[in-house]
Amino acid sequence: KMKILISACLLGIPCRYDGKAKPQPWAEALAARHDIVPVCPEQLGGLPTPRTPSERRGDRVVMNTGADVTEQYRRGAEAALRLCRLTGCEAEEVVRLARLYGARAAILKERSPSCGCGEIYDGSFSGTLTAGDGVTAELLRKNGIPVYGESHVAALLD
Ligand code: SF4
Repeated sequence: KMKILISACLLGIPCRYDGKAKPQPWAEALAARHDIVPVCPEQLGGLPTPRTPSERRGDRVVMNTGADVTEQYRRGAEAALRLCRLTGCEAEEVVRLARLYGARAAILKERSPSCGCGEIYDGSFSGTLTAGDGVTAELLRKNGIPVYGESHVAALLD
C-alpha cells in the first residue's frame, strides 16, 4: 500500500476553475488499493470555485484578467506539501526509505498551473503548452515526492 496525494478533481470532486470535475475510471481501484489523500491546491490557497482561469508566467501565476494570484498558488502548494508530510512520513530517514521503495507519491492533474507536471500552458492563454511544472507539482518534486500525471496511473496500480 502506498500513501498517495491526489488532485481532488481526478476523483470526481467539482473543484476545477469551471466548477467541474475530471473523474478518472481508475479512481475506485486506486482508492481500494492505496491510502489516498485528496487535495485541491487552488481551493486550499483560498481561490473560489468556479474561478477565473490562470496560467504560470515564469515564477508568477496570473489570471486571464491580468490579476496576479501567485500568493494563492504558493499557499496552496505549501498546504499540499504539509498534508503530504502529515499523512506520510516526515523524518529524513523515512523519506529516504520511502523514495527507495516508492512508498508515497502524488498523482496530479496534468497541465494545471497548480498540479501540472512536466508540461503546462505557457502563460499566453492561447492553449500553447510549454515545458514546466505547476506550482504545487514543483514544490512537491523539490521535496523529493515523486509526481505522476493521471495518464501514468496504470503503472502505480500494477
Ligand atoms: Fe484543484 Fe489541481 Fe484539480 Fe486544479 S488540477 S482543480 S488545482 S486539484
